[in-house]
Amino acid sequence: MTRRFEFEKLGQDGKARLGVIHTPRGDIRTPAFMPVGTAATVKAMMPESVAATGADILLGNTYHLMLRPTAERIDRLGGLHKFMNWQKPILTDSGGFQVMSLAQLRKLTEEGVTFKSHIDGSRHTLTPERSMEIQRLLGSDIVMCFDECPALPADRDRIADSMRLSMRWAQRSRDAFGDRPGHALFGIQQGGLERDFREESAEALKGIGFDGYAVGGLAVGEGQEAMFDCLDYAPDMLPEDKPRYLMGVGKPDDIVGAVARGIDMMDCVLPTRSGRTGQVFTRNGVVNIKNARHADDPRPLDENCSCPACRNYSRAYLHHVFRAQEMISGMLLTWHNLQYYQDLMQGMRDAIAAGTFDDFQRDFHAQRAQGDIEPL
Ligand SMILES: [Zn+2]
Repeated sequence: MTRRFEFEKLGQDGKARLGVIHTPRGDIRTPAFMPVGTAATVKAMMPESVAATGADILLGNTYHLMLRPTAERIDRLGGLHKFMNWQKPILTDSGGFQVMSLAQLRKLTEEGVTFKSHIDGSRHTLTPERSMEIQRLLGSDIVMCFDECPALPADRDRIADSMRLSMRWAQRSRDAFGDRPGHALFGIQQGGLERDFREESAEALKGIGFDGYAVGGLAVGEGQEAMFDCLDYAPDMLPEDKPRYLMGVGKPDDIVGAVARGIDMMDCVLPTRSGRTGQVFTRNGVVNIKNARHADDPRPLDENCSCPACRNYSRAYLHHVFRAQEMISGMLLTWHNLQYYQDLMQGMRDAIAAGTFDDFQRDFHAQRAQGDIEPL
C-alpha cells in the first residue's frame, strides 16, 4: 500500500473524469461520493454497513467535533478513525462553513472567526491555524483549507472581499499544515458566480500549491442552473492532474451534472437526512414511503437494488415502520439511499471507462422521467 497521497487519472469521456486517489488508508475511486459522518457517525449506519454500500471515504465535520467531544479528546483516544471504527480515508471540512450556518454571535476578522457554540453557548475561535491543528488532531486524511463564503445572491464587492480573505487564509492554512506525507491539503476556490473572481481565486490557489482543489461557495441557494453555468468553467481553471471536489452537492441530478463538468468528488447530507424523513432515492426518482399507496404493497422499493431494505422488506413494511417511528425505518432507508448514491457513482465510473457517459446521462434522465412504478 502506498505511503503517499496521489491522484491517478485513468480515463476521460468528454469532461467527465475517471480516476483513483491513492492514500495510505486505501484507494478512493473517482468520481466519488462521500457520505457525511457529522458527529463521528453516519447517522443510523454502522461503519461496516457504510463500507458495504461501496463508500471509499467519509466526511467528518470539524465544527461539530471540535465542540463535542473535542479534537483533543479524540486525539487522546487514538484519532477519529479509531474512535468511530472507520479505517478507510476521512476528509474533514475546515469548520468555516458550519460556523457561518450554525453558530451564534459570530464575529469575523482578518484573524478568524469568534463564535458561540450552538450546543452550550461556550465561546470559541477558529482561525486557519486552529482549523489545521484540529484537523491534524482528528487524524484527517484530506484536510480542507479554512475559508469563508457568502450566501448567494451577494453583491460583487462582498464576494470579492470574501474570496480575497479566503485566499489569504489559504496561504495561512498551507503554512500551518506543513509537510505531512500521506496527508493531503485541499485549497478551495471561491468567487461566487463571478467568472473573473473564480479565475483570480484559482490563480491564487495554484500559486500556493495544493494536493487537490475544491470548488466552494456553490449549492448555497443559487439554484441548479446557475450552479451548472458556473461549473461549465470553474473546474477547468483548476489543475488537470489533481482531484476536484464540489463541496456540499447534492441531489442525484446535481451529481451527474457535476461529473459531466469535470468534478471528481462530492459530499452531501441528502441521502442520510432523507433516509430519516422517509424520502427515498430510486432510479425512477424520489419515493415518499409515508404515502398511503405503499401500505399494502408487497413489492420492494427497487427490485434492482442490492441493499437490505430492498432485498428483505416490502414497501408495506417500510411504510409501516416509518409510520410507527421505529428506528429500523431510518436504518433501512438510509442504507438504501447510500446504496443508491454509490451505485450511481459506480454506474458513472463504468460509463466513463466504456466511453458511454452521454448514453448514461440520457438513460439516467429517461428513467427518472418515468416516475415510480404504478400503484397496485
Ligand atoms: Zn435498496
